Amino acid sequence: MNFKSQLAQVEVFSKVAQAAKNKGLETYVVGGYVRDLILGRPSKDIDFTCVGSGIKLAEEVAKQYDHHIPLSVFKNFGTAMLKMDEFELEFVGARKESYRLESRKPIVEDGTMLEDLERRDFTINAMAISLNEKNFGDLVDPFGGLADIKKKIIRTPLDPAITFSDDPLRMLRAVRFASQLDFDIEPDTFFALSENAPRLEIISAERIIVELNKIIAVKKPSYGFKLLFASKLLQEFFPEMVALQGVDSVDDKSHKDNFYHTLQVLDNVCQVSDDLYLRWAAILHDIAKPATKRFNKKVGWTFHGHEDKGARMVPDIFRRLKLPMDDRMKYVQKLVRLHLRPIALVKDEVTDSALRRLLFDAGDAIEDLMKLCRADVTSKNNKKVKRYLENFDKVDQKLLEVEEKDQMRNFQPPITGEEVMQVFNLSPSKIVGEIKEEIKEAILEGRIHNNPTEARELMYEIAKKKGLMPANNPS
Ligand code: ATP
Ligand code: MG
Repeated sequence: MNFKSQLAQVEVFSKVAQAAKNKGLETYVVGGYVRDLILGRPSKDIDFTCVGSGIKLAEEVAKQYDHHIPLSVFKNFGTAMLKMDEFELEFVGARKESYRLESRKPIVEDGTMLEDLERRDFTINAMAISLNEKNFGDLVDPFGGLADIKKKIIRTPLDPAITFSDDPLRMLRAVRFASQLDFDIEPDTFFALSENAPRLEIISAERIIVELNKIIAVKKPSYGFKLLFASKLLQEFFPEMVALQGVDSVDDKSHKDNFYHTLQVLDNVCQVSDDLYLRWAAILHDIAKPATKRFNKKVGWTFHGHEDKGARMVPDIFRRLKLPMDDRMKYVQKLVRLHLRPIALVKDEVTDSALRRLLFDAGDAIEDLMKLCRADVTSKNNKKVKRYLENFDKVDQKLLEVEEKDQMRNFQPPITGEEVMQVFNLSPSKIVGEIKEEIKEAILEGRIHNNPTEARELMYEIAKKKGLMPANNPS
């Protein structure tokens, strides 16, 4: 197979070819760019490998561009990068790698092009295209990567057991590429995943989460999670999710399998949002179900309090997985905690105060919370699904009406602590907080409106009951 005409459409390749010729370096386009070119996916990273010094080649390429493009050289790694507007070019010399048991850091030596390709993770990533005059555009495909792309399979070039044991991160990359490309993992490769899953222990959480988030970012992440689960990789870094799997039965009463339910909720939110952390909220919304599961002769299986317990589990899970411990964690925690609340608002006789409280508690996360609730409807009975979703339409409508009236979403106390302290000549103390809390409660309950005049009036009333006198009697 030859890619001459495709390469001719991009100037970079003729420049690199010219540089390679000038320096007498045998040079190839390798890895992801080749794979994506065959797949017809656009990609902006282009990796070049030459037999010899990648840095020398990069310097010559920079010269071809009259040094208009910034060049970064990483001497220690023997690599160099050119950052263009459209592309990022990386240059490296062909290398072979040998591994020791305790580390994923290989001993690296100069090698041939074949050795360079065989150290790569998958056949689809182990192809190269020649930039050399004698065979410009020819595909170099020693392991049948092109055939594997056609068959849509992920397979290692060498013995998968060795490939995965050498660098266990490749196991997650296998699932990640399968998820992104919608490929199968070839059976021997898959078997090696399950055999080597415990080797993940030498991989840092930081590297694991990068791959996991890429799996979560695809259009339909349930597939990747099913692969992670079936290969036992998931157990290695996310046992809480594995614990969701399974169905218990007592007296002919069974609950649903919460692992597969969670995956369906996840796929559902993916249809309406690209937001990574809404996806995480879907993954974690029922995470405390195993811990709260009870059987009751009258009502069957219950998971009372799983939303609160789940919210309390979120920080530990985020910390361990090296997810961010900032507002994004708080947001996920909020969605997990509130995910049952809109269901309680479905009844016809729901009060404004219940609606105000949800708006107050959810704040700007209210739309995402409603998306999560809709995604959480996973009944197989289409009539039921339709009815539940229509109920949520009604909740949306009611929330909208109350928000228009009362603006609870970004609730700011109409009376500040400073004002309370000034009026009653108080220093910062518990009583200031109590007065503010009572005013807030009165607004949520609908006893007063959310405005400073009514709030101030109430402030004086509350203070009087507490035996406080205004500092300068306003009468
Ligand atoms: P993408 O950039 O879309 O994630 P990619 O295939 O370009 O996909 P990179 O991580 O950028 O992936 O790596 C570039 C190439 O380097 C891969 O195509 C593969 O040939 C090789 N490679 C990367 N990581 C590994 C690894 N852990 N083990 C073996 N080869 C690897
Ligand atoms: Mg890449």
